[in-house]
Order: sequence, then structure tokens, then C-alpha cells
Amino acid sequence: MRREGVQEEGLYSIRMHASSEKGHLCGAERIVPRGLIPLISETLLGRAWKRRAPGPASISIRVDAVDTGMIRTIPLLPVRTVQAGDPSAAESQALALLVSAGVSERSARGALCALGSGASPDGRNMRGGMIIHAETGERLEPDPARGVRVSHMDVAEAVREDLQVFLRSHGLQHPRVMEAVILASKVAWVPGLVAEVCRSDDPGYTTGYVASRELGYVRILNMKRPGDTFGGRAFFVDGHASIERIMEELEDAPYLISEIP
Ligand code: AMP
Repeated sequence: MRREGVQEEGLYSIRMHASSEKGHLCGAERIVPRGLIPLISETLLGRAWKRRAPGPASISIRVDAVDTGMIRTIPLLPVRTVQAGDPSAAESQALALLVSAGVSERSARGALCALGSGASPDGRNMRGGMIIHAETGERLEPDPARGVRVSHMDVAEAVREDLQVFLRSHGLQHPRVMEAVILASKVAWVPGLVAEVCRSDDPGYTTGYVASRELGYVRILNMKRPGDTFGGRAFFVDGHASIERIMEELEDAPYLISEIP
């Protein structure tokens, strides 16, 4: 991992967030050269408008200059898929992968259980992810309803097309997969992070993943039954690391993927 000036001078973070009357609806973000700001802002706005009725009640687009000297350039995690016939088989796969990444069985089981039953104190899904002590399973995020929101990551423009070709070659065209692999790649390279597990909250999307620097991005089929609205993310951390530093890095440090496997 390098933290140094990259070739792309004048980069900007663009973040879109849309809400309906009921609250959060969708969000997306990019890190792009200055010249692409109008085009990408319009693309992100378009994504919010495309949501089903009643659609967004408000959309915000925020553009911030990125300090290019602070950007970390990282490789994309390699991607593979493991088969699982049903949620119970998928859970066993996820458990085995997490344990092989250095998470204790107790910690992994606790996280998987929380993800499947609403990890927020009110029994609903969280807005962000849980931070969990990889050994003890203790929840460490300061706000267990919000969790931590991973932000400020993208693929460098120079290899964006390569990433699309790479994902197509795996039969994975959906933008959701691209965004998840980019997020998981950032998370895997954050110092102190041991592994991540994700279960989508979309009732129509049943594939989850486990990711770490060593394992790569491992998609697991049938993590839940169709119609199940519970989902979330758990970030397992080394108990000796500083939680403040990890949160700061996950939320604010800009990461760009500059190599596709
Ligand atoms: P999704 O993969 O979009 O279905 O999201 C699944 C769950 O992951 C959501 O319910 C959130 O709890 C969590 N999540 C979504 N986006 C982020 C993010 N940027 N950072 C941390 N957690 C997230």
C-alpha cells in the first residue's frame, strides 16, 4: 500500500445521498478528476431518481477536494464465489472463512447472528457496519444504531475499464458488485482490520461475502432466503488497534484502486 501523490491531479470526492419521507433511500460515491464532476454528479443524481415510487424526497450531492498526497493506492481484492445450497450451508462457509482469516468462532457466530436479526439496538438494520473485536466478539462501534460508514473509495480512472472487464469475465455486471468489491478492498487494506462479512439488506439479493486481504473477496450464495430484509456489515478488528484510528481511516481516508488482478 502506498500513501503518496497519484498521477490524477485535482481529484474530488462526490457523494450522493437520497432520502424518502421514511429516511435513508440510497447513496453512492466516486472519486474523480475535476473535469468529470458535472457528468458524474448527473449520473449519481440519475441513480437516485431511478428509485421506485414514491422516489426521493431529497437528494444531496456533496463535492469535496481530495488531498492527493493522502490517497492510498491499493490493489483490488481477487474475487471468487463459493456455492452454498441454503442459508445454513452459507453460514457454515462464512464461519469457516472468517475463522481462517483470524476471527474467533465465537466472534464470527455472534456477528452472523446479529446480521440475520437486526444488528441495531432497536432490532432493525444499521445504517453502517458493526466494529467487532476479532477475538472476544465485543461490539466496539460508539453508536450501535449508525455503526461506521465506509467512505472515500473508488477505482482510479486509468483502470476503471479494466475493472469492468474483470467483473464481466466473472459474470458480475451489476454496479452493486463493483461498489461492494471497491468497498471491501478498501476495508481489507485498512491497518488493524482482520476481516469483513456482508449480508445485503435487499430482500431480492441473497448473495453475501466474506473478505480479507489474504482471502480476497469471497462471494457466498444463498446467505439468506429471498424476501428476508435483514442485512448489514461486520468489520472484525485486531483488539490491540485504536478504534478511533480505524474509524477515521474507514470513514475519511481516500483510497483508490490502481491495480486489477
Ligand atoms: P448493501 O450491500 O448495500 O445491501 O448493504 C448492506 C448493509 O451494509 C446495509 O444495510 C448497511 O448496514 C451496510 N452498509 C451499506 N453501505 C455501507 C457503507 N458504506 N459502510 C458501512 N456499512 C454499509
